[in-house]
Amino acid sequence: MTFWRISAGALAALVAVGSATAEAADLPGSSGPCTVALDPGHNGVPTNIFDPETGILMADYPNGQEDADALDVARAVRDRVEGAGFRVVLVKEAVDDNVTYRERVDRAAAVGAVVGVSIHTTPGADGSAVYPQRVGGSRTGEGADGEMRTVTFRDAATAAESQRLSTVMAGARSIAELRGVPVGDLSFDGRPGLWGGNLPVISLIADTPWVYSEFGSANGGGAHGISAAEKRRYIDGLSAGIIAGLATSPRCSPVGSVSSL
Ligand SMILES: [Zn+2]
Repeated sequence: MTFWRISAGALAALVAVGSATAEAADLPGSSGPCTVALDPGHNGVPTNIFDPETGILMADYPNGQEDADALDVARAVRDRVEGAGFRVVLVKEAVDDNVTYRERVDRAAAVGAVVGVSIHTTPGADGSAVYPQRVGGSRTGEGADGEMRTVTFRDAATAAESQRLSTVMAGARSIAELRGVPVGDLSFDGRPGLWGGNLPVISLIADTPWVYSEFGSANGGGAHGISAAEKRRYIDGLSAGIIAGLATSPRCSPVGSVSSL
């Protein structure tokens, strides 16, 4: 059993959720582009096309109950985060929406999102984790022309903000889930139909700081669904983490360079 230190950001998140009052709407900077983009679950139909900008393979597929669960969670998180005075946009609005990763990150960028959050669930009680963008993170596979190709994440400032937001999110989720939720690393190596590497495609092609969130379920998860109690814990943790992350963002708070944005 690992015990995780609870960050100041996580504590701020709990305070923020506990006092999501009208004053929050008057936060300095909240008139600016203080928006979070929520990305619930997998695509509504199987898709296997190449990103016109990077050439990366965008392979995705519906995943049973996970997609309805993720949408429920996203809508509940939206209510709470909007209640705290921030703006929320869902980049996928219905379970069967057909929206590529490129279309999702473009929607987040179009609304000037401060952060994008992908919402997923997975089997296994130890599956809860938060995955940030990392400089040097990449995916490699066969491109549209049949040649091997590698797409690498290189934006240091975006990666740093993604990692900050992921740390806040992990702290808040640890409190809500009563277990350690780590900031982790992924591997897609050896998975048929997917390019190998270590960043989710959506995180890799996003110019927006992106946080990829998985909730691990003891008895369900992914296509098998999560329980109502698990859903509540996921909603609490994500909401707290997002509010803390936005409240401490230089684009949303008086801390940092609000005036230049
Ligand atoms: Zn998933």
